[in-house]
Amino acid sequence: MHLSVVSIFPELFSGFLSTSLVGAAVERGRLAVVVEDLRRFTDDRHRSVDDEPYGGGGGMVMMAEPWLRAIDELVAPGAWTVLLTPQGHRLNESKVRELAGRQRLLLLCGRYEGVDERVLSQVDEEISIGDFVLAGGELPAMVLIEALSRQIPGVVGRPSSVVDDSFHDGLLDYPHYTRPRSVGGLDVPPVLLSGDHQAIAGWRRREALRATLRKRPDLLAVVPLGERRRMELVEVAAEEGIGEEELARLVTPDSAEDNGEKGAPQVGG
Ligand code: SAM
Repeated sequence: MHLSVVSIFPELFSGFLSTSLVGAAVERGRLAVVVEDLRRFTDDRHRSVDDEPYGGGGGMVMMAEPWLRAIDELVAPGAWTVLLTPQGHRLNESKVRELAGRQRLLLLCGRYEGVDERVLSQVDEEISIGDFVLAGGELPAMVLIEALSRQIPGVVGRPSSVVDDSFHDGLLDYPHYTRPRSVGGLDVPPVLLSGDHQAIAGWRRREALRATLRKRPDLLAVVPLGERRRMELVEVAAEEGIGEEELARLVTPDSAEDNGEKGAPQVGG
């Protein structure tokens, strides 16, 4: 996968692109990332990228011309141009997977009050990392790059860890434990020490349902659960003191809409 990023602070990316999972993906050639300084696309002595807003008001606006020149030069055939903006489509796992299916992305990182609206005419998609406002699009771009890296075959050592992760099948992940067996009087669930792989798989399925029920019941409204998991959910809910009627209410699509996650999960089980 090839990514081009445009920012007025390209230096922010250097540590990120050479560290941990993303660093390994870059080093192994699975991911190519070129970070461009927007100021390279300016044509004045001061390398200006912002100006005062028409109509007055506070803050500065990023000028259209450097962005339009950058897009014109950097957008290779087949590339998909993404502007990071709080006004965009809220990023979730299914959107990450969709974007990971593209060979080339051009990521545009705004600053100040954002970019001149006319730049949007050359943007394929606006992406937000959540309903809050940061000072710039660099951290959102890094969030997207790291999430995309995990989807590239061979980047995460054990593919099963991606498959088991939260949101992959629409549910949250099951709980994880490691040594020691007991810490401060808290023990590892005995089934995980049993060596019985079937029992462990069953426990994990149920605990993923329990975690989702406790923390994000709205997800249950949009995951197409298979028959077995639906029955397990009813049992887990009963263990949690939730009857079938209350469970039905908890997992109605209305609660999913409140979280903005409606339609997010793609895979059922
Ligand atoms: N005035 C803009 C608004 O209210 O929609 C916010 C501008 S913000 C201060 C500056 C830049 O940070 C944006 O152009 C965008 O690139 C980036 N940014 C801030 N919050 C973001 C978010 N939640 N997701 C993606 N990008 C964000």
